[in-house]
Amino acid sequence: MNDADLDKFRLLLIQQRDELKSSLQMAQQSTETVELDQASVGRVSRGDAMQAQSMAVETSRLKQQQLRKISMALSLIESGDYGYCSICDQDIDQRRLEVDPAATMCVPCASKQE
Ligand SMILES: [Zn+2]
Repeated sequence: MNDADLDKFRLLLIQQRDELKSSLQMAQQSTETVELDQASVGRVSRGDAMQAQSMAVETSRLKQQQLRKISMALSLIESGDYGYCSICDQDIDQRRLEVDPAATMCVPCASKQE
């Protein structure tokens, strides 16, 4: 992969990382707001509140997972190992990286994992 491509993916990754970070922050704030509303109004049933809570937890868990993948991809760019499959060491198709710049497996390996 040439430097221009690496720069492109680095920018994409940084952009995605910043978006994830701010949406995690917003999710945290809205969870706090929900708790306040419940305390003052008390109309939300305990079951609904717990369901909403566990969905929020799951969503932020996935986002944190993605954040880790992105930081890993960024460190791979720094070390010059970006764009190679972590399983078979072959080049990862750039079209795949354009869809998910944090991908660490090539298409054949990723489909074997699923
Ligand atoms: Zn592979």
